[in-house]
Amino acid sequence: MATLQELKALLSERTEELKKRNRLIEHLEKELDKKDATIRHLTNEIDKFRQVVCPLTQQIIQQGSPRPGRRLEGQTALRTKRQAISAEPPEGDPGAIGQKISKSPKSRDLIRSAILDNDFMKNLEMTQIREIVDCMYPVEYAAGSLIIKEGAVGSIVYVMEEGRVEVSRENKYLSTLAPGKVFGELAILYNCKRTATIKAATDCKLWAIERQCFQTIMMRTGLIRQAEYTDFLKSVPIFKNLPEETLTKISDVLEETFYNPGDYIIRQGARGDTFFIISKGQVKVTIKQPNSGEEQYIRTLQKGDFFGEKALQGDDLRTANIIADEHEGVTCLVIDRETFNQLISSLDEIRTRYKDEGVERRRINEEFRDVKLADLRILATLGVGGFGRVELVQIAGDPMRSFALKQMKKSQIVETRQQQHIMSEKEIMGEANCEFIVKLFKTFKDRKYLYMLMEACLGGELWTILRDKGHFDDSTTRFYTACVVEAFDYLHSRNIIYRDLKPENLLLDVNGYVKLVDFGFAKKLQQGRKTWTFCGTPEYVAPEVILNRGHDISADYWSLGVLMFELLTGTPPFTGSDPMKTYNIILKGIDAIEFPRNITRNATALIKKLCRDNPTERLGYQKGGISEIQKHKWFDGFNWEGLINHTLIPPITPKVRNVTDTSNFDEYPPDSEGPPLDDLTGWDAEF
Ligand code: AMP
Repeated sequence: MATLQELKALLSERTEELKKRNRLIEHLEKELDKKDATIRHLTNEIDKFRQVVCPLTQQIIQQGSPRPGRRLEGQTALRTKRQAISAEPPEGDPGAIGQKISKSPKSRDLIRSAILDNDFMKNLEMTQIREIVDCMYPVEYAAGSLIIKEGAVGSIVYVMEEGRVEVSRENKYLSTLAPGKVFGELAILYNCKRTATIKAATDCKLWAIERQCFQTIMMRTGLIRQAEYTDFLKSVPIFKNLPEETLTKISDVLEETFYNPGDYIIRQGARGDTFFIISKGQVKVTIKQPNSGEEQYIRTLQKGDFFGEKALQGDDLRTANIIADEHEGVTCLVIDRETFNQLISSLDEIRTRYKDEGVERRRINEEFRDVKLADLRILATLGVGGFGRVELVQIAGDPMRSFALKQMKKSQIVETRQQQHIMSEKEIMGEANCEFIVKLFKTFKDRKYLYMLMEACLGGELWTILRDKGHFDDSTTRFYTACVVEAFDYLHSRNIIYRDLKPENLLLDVNGYVKLVDFGFAKKLQQGRKTWTFCGTPEYVAPEVILNRGHDISADYWSLGVLMFELLTGTPPFTGSDPMKTYNIILKGIDAIEFPRNITRNATALIKKLCRDNPTERLGYQKGGISEIQKHKWFDGFNWEGLINHTLIPPITPKVRNVTDTSNFDEYPPDSEGPPLDDLTGWDAEF
């Protein structure tokens, strides 16, 4: 047993130990306080740095600096606004252009392999490549002559057959190209400035093709194929009563498949869910004899005949063998039950949600009937678009409200052949009655400009906020994406494609809700039809736009996936150092892109479902339409109703003091160009 003395000694030892621990805790707390102070100091320093960097960034943007590289983790990005581009499709009959030029088999081989060796052109279909080979014409350049001049507008693509050419940029030698190479291929997509100079180092023989001819080939092959497939479909009893536009949609998803001579395409007794139409060659139908098991020949089916149609209606037990022709093989157009059903039900879906718009719209516009251009007072510049400035204005005698006035130079519209786009911008914006689309109240025109009087969104561009914040978290991104989904729901249910989604075109209203602006590329499509104009912003264009295959509302779903990625990371997924590189990265597809770890699994899944190479497989375009996006896991628990009624609190509430506060916009120096030329040709009569 311990004595009292021993206990006392133990107690004092423990007390000493406790005191020591308390001192240690005190010391650690002091250290923590010091660290906290350092963190606060560093945060302040970062804020100060941001305040310096952001105006600098703006300055750089306004001076038109080249697009900087990728943002590093945790760094404020030096971002530049992106210009949209567009190429008008060829005018007139697509069959008329594109003369065939005879050439030797050796030249044909050389051109074909040059195309197949080119990152962009190798993605074209074989029939299209064959036609391009047919249409290329010969050109010769003497040693020392200039073939392509940096900065000049180009429209010709070349394949080199003999000689050598030198590539340079800003007078600096870059490389030498030998025979069998394609060059100048960006010009084939749209009107663009050459990014390098190409000179003949020796006498050169080249093959050339103009953009117009290329685009005609792309459009014609697409249209011919669609018409041919639709004709096939019309001859099949189960398709007979479907409307034309449904047939064109189905013809888009048919896959052409080749079967080798003697292949069993279908085996009797097996299960299967595919339906076939013969597009080339023939097949043999046989049935097994019940007793002997021997196959008995029944008949031969040829081009235009079909088999396996019961599979589409759910009966998947095959009742005969179908064997590809023993000599030539056979080519079939194939569709499976799932694709067929998804398409049919999404096509049958009738939308009723926004039916009351007509009356509502007219009432809104009526209010501005008597407003004249002279009644508008310009207060400040909100932004600069492709054709001119957007100003904040007030109507004389109405100080409680402000508006955005978009001014567009008529001469510039004509120069860039955008008349049709501007007319459709007016029409679509003027009719739209959706909380997620900027409203157009009235239009004006004079000798030099067209004007659009719109609702002003004083929260600024989402682009500016993204630039300052670097990137958004999952739930902030969800809110902005949801606003775009609502705008797309409104547009797509009217068969209108938007075609220029990007943070630059998303404006915040005073509450922080996002609205779509700039309808310069929006277009109303005819049911079941596609459109062919290359337009959009390089990082956001869908592969079918780049490949000139014709596109429709499904291209917007692609860009929605790109937007989600950019909002979550600060950088779009497909980014190259020049547009052609960007296009080649897009053509490699979303699966080739590495997703940073801060993108959640559900967000990744949705982005990948939106950015499918095949437009018909994109979420939003299939069964259930856009509601499939709203129902996706990433949106689980999201308050869609609150969004629509505007009761949901936005993630960022902009500071807007009054109706003339433009502090959420960058500052723009006064227009340095003089007034544009008059244009009194009358093309804008309907504006
Ligand atoms: P746009 O020519 O339509 O692309 O417009 C150019 C820029 O002007 C936009 O990116 C916005 O910064 C600004 N802007 C355009 N419309 C509006 C609007 N209704 N309210 C506020 N700012 C606008």
